[in-house]
Amino acid sequence: MRIDLHTHSRRSDGTDSPAELVAAAISAGLDVVALTDHDTAEGWDEASVAAAGTGMVLLTGIEISCRYAGAGVHLLAYGPDPAYPPLVRELDRVLEGRNARLPATVQRLRGLGISITADDVREVSGDAAATGRPHVADALIWLGVVSDRDEAFDRYLMPGRPAYVDRYGADLVPTIDLVAAAGGVSVLAHPWSRASRHVLDADAFEILQAQGLTGVEVDHQDHRPEDRAALREIAADTGLLCTGSSDYHGTGKVDHDLGVQTTDPEQLGRLLDAMRASAAAARRRGLAPPVTPRFRWG
Ligand code: AMP
Ligand code: ZN
Ligand code: FE
Ligand code: FE
Repeated sequence: MRIDLHTHSRRSDGTDSPAELVAAAISAGLDVVALTDHDTAEGWDEASVAAAGTGMVLLTGIEISCRYAGAGVHLLAYGPDPAYPPLVRELDRVLEGRNARLPATVQRLRGLGISITADDVREVSGDAAATGRPHVADALIWLGVVSDRDEAFDRYLMPGRPAYVDRYGADLVPTIDLVAAAGGVSVLAHPWSRASRHVLDADAFEILQAQGLTGVEVDHQDHRPEDRAALREIAADTGLLCTGSSDYHGTGKVDHDLGVQTTDPEQLGRLLDAMRASAAAARRRGLAPPVTPRFRWG
């Protein structure tokens, strides 16, 4: 069983369409893949159609841009009802923050003497619902200013670099509640990547678990082996399940190939049980979260 629970399509900042992503996941020999675009569920339908009848199981999720103690934190929401109005409203706020940042970033770059326009960025972001710095990076590549996304982040787009602009993030704890109310399950994405490591100590995991967090992404390319071991221990102590995933972005992110990190089948079993329970409770409240897939273990 090969299980990859965190990937991006072109509906955010990946480079594959949702259908291409499903095909790539099958080629990579995955049995289960979750599509988790940033702040949007817009890729779900296309991916679901592509996955139907293939034998590969698709899970649907959203990687929600959150804030915790002043730091940017990413929350993986698996299986919420994407039409639940309070969730739609919060995602709209995040998407507006993303869109408002684009012209501000472009302005900074122009101030550095680079003749880039917001239209250049829109050109490369195509049908993305969630625009982001990677699209600005792609525009800079297209203009011949940098050679890849990494260089664009290193020179211009990272915090502390001259074209970095902050944006709105949803408050983490209320968002965990919101995901549960929408019939989904919350897993903290790459908690010890650079942006969030300093605010997420062992105490924070305990607090978040008590607030309804179900799991933590342990096996991720941003985590060193010693980070993974420590996170696994914290997860065991706090009763959080552990996932592993590639955070695939197509050709947009190196060393994040599909299946480069994977989730243990037993941990997936726990996630699916939690998803079924959350979805059933939401259905009793009249919501329509996606049906949690059932499948036989290999
Ligand atoms: P944003 O959503 O605009 O805040 O940009 C964050 C996104 O940029 C995340 O999806 C990261 O995966 C991606 N990202 C961050 N650093 C890099 C990098 N050096 N190269 C490519 N993508 C990156
Ligand atoms: Zn991304
Ligand atoms: Fe992330
Ligand atoms: Fe991601």
